[in-house]
Amino acid sequence: MSRAFNFCAGPATLPEAVLKQAQSEMLDWRGTGVSVMEMSHRSDEFVAIAETAEKDLRELAGISDDYAVLFMQGGASSQFSTIPLNLLGEKTSADYVNTGIWSKKAIAEASRYGDVNVVASSEDSGFTTIPDQAVWTTNADAAYLHYTPNETIGGLEYDFIPDSGKVPLVADMSSTMLSRPVDINKFGLIYAGAQKNIGPSGLVVVIIRKDLLGKARKETPTMMNYQVIADNDSMYNTPATYSWYLSGLVFKWLKEQGGVKAMGELNARKAKKLYDFIDTNDFYANPIEPRFRSWMNVPFTLADDALNGEFLKGAEARHLLNLQGHRSVGGMRASIYNAMPEEGVDALIAYMAEFAKERG
Ligand SMILES: *Cc1c(COP(=O)(O)O)cnc(C)c1O
Repeated sequence: MSRAFNFCAGPATLPEAVLKQAQSEMLDWRGTGVSVMEMSHRSDEFVAIAETAEKDLRELAGISDDYAVLFMQGGASSQFSTIPLNLLGEKTSADYVNTGIWSKKAIAEASRYGDVNVVASSEDSGFTTIPDQAVWTTNADAAYLHYTPNETIGGLEYDFIPDSGKVPLVADMSSTMLSRPVDINKFGLIYAGAQKNIGPSGLVVVIIRKDLLGKARKETPTMMNYQVIADNDSMYNTPATYSWYLSGLVFKWLKEQGGVKAMGELNARKAKKLYDFIDTNDFYANPIEPRFRSWMNVPFTLADDALNGEFLKGAEARHLLNLQGHRSVGGMRASIYNAMPEEGVDALIAYMAEFAKERG
């Protein structure tokens, strides 16, 4: 069977060239006679793999020496508690924006450690828009301001970076990291679970401004203390070595594609094609306010929900996989991350047009 177009929201499709390289290096990494999976994380070989991955990520995203880059474990969800434990410091509260399911999870977890001030919410709209920053009730004394630039489940994406003044800006970039150019210097902390745009699940990349290190509460587990992880080059314990290696291959691939600028242009084009098709075909609909439509996750509904099963079956027969929407939203969702080629989007649109013609 040939490779399918996999529209899964996460773990998501990876570049075929990366998987092939990993396959060719699986048994014997560059003449060492062992797999990367079997290497000591303290060996010169693995340390070089790890350092190269960090260097390439810094180059791709434009991360200066003012920031530490950490390769941590436990996915993005573990950061929902790691962040308040490390950043609340002497402060008592943090600001959060509620734009969907991932914001809500971050808010629920942070509430265990301090006062969470929900400065704005688009829940009343069914999370189809982003509240204008002019109406946010931010607190100048908050420890940080947390937001979710791309809500993976709802398909809702900010088209601006919030201005948080002197308060450190914290962003869950799990599903938008490296999908377009972003000015890292506007952020105090960025985190991203790897399984959308970076590599295998379990790994989470954290980019933290160095002045925010060293503020962890006394009771913070050692493994969650950013200072400890930074001081030990993310090797306080055995890191997720194979995921780190694979992410490094993805970073190299991204550089070969022309970096985040080229990716941003490609992603904008892919998304526009799909939304344009949905908007011009009466059979399909997307509820998100157009300026906040996600470039990465495109939810859509059919005119008749009773046809969902048939739609999915037909898609699968054409090797268009994992189009079922999240259980909380229903309908369909096509995740079109960096590694989804434009031909995948074209194939999906062709199938959608055919299905609407036959069954609409
Ligand atoms: C996938 C995702 C998460 C959860 O990631 P895990 O690695 O499964 O913990 C959190 N936030 C966003 C925005 C996501 O897309």
